Amino acid sequence: MWEFPFRSDRLCLDFVSTLGSRRSLELERLRAPSDLQRWVRQAGIGELQTASKSGLGRALELREAVYTLVTGNAQQQPSAIATLNHAALHPPLVAQLEAPAHKSKWLPTADVGQVLSTIARDAIDLLSGPLRTRVKECAGADCTILFLDTSRPGTRRWCAMEVCGNQVKSASLRAKRKAARVTPAPQST
Ligand SMILES: [Zn+2]
Repeated sequence: MWEFPFRSDRLCLDFVSTLGSRRSLELERLRAPSDLQRWVRQAGIGELQTASKSGLGRALELREAVYTLVTGNAQQQPSAIATLNHAALHPPLVAQLEAPAHKSKWLPTADVGQVLSTIARDAIDLLSGPLRTRVKECAGADCTILFLDTSRPGTRRWCAMEVCGNQVKSASLRAKRKAARVTPAPQST
């Protein structure tokens, strides 16, 4: 069973990263309707009680529309915008306040449209607001996870330092060591 990454600091971007290693492996983590249910649970937006193949198809279509719009592929934008706006027309998931802890809880649903609407509305909010320019792609090799850089100077480079940052650092360290090994020893005279 695939683990879902939740490193994007934004619901709609976490959803986009259910397809991993874009442009290379294209690791699809949403292969069955039950995968979508698992993602909803892990994303902390309640419980999707049933899921169908057609619901999964709609989810994948929305996911790729969000990816297209966030990464700014202009030619595909009209259809991506239509897909996004259509999903957002549906009533979203509903949060309820729980007393006395003042925690909120999402009501479970059997309607995938509510889940997709919540994701679509999050994407619309992101794409139409100032944070749009803070969406970045992880600098890790083949990672391709998009994340929202909320660091004050805007210098975040990795989806997660402990996953991709360290990998790149140790790779460059290895390269440096290798370079040091092949450097000819100084000639003694
Ligand atoms: Zn990464």
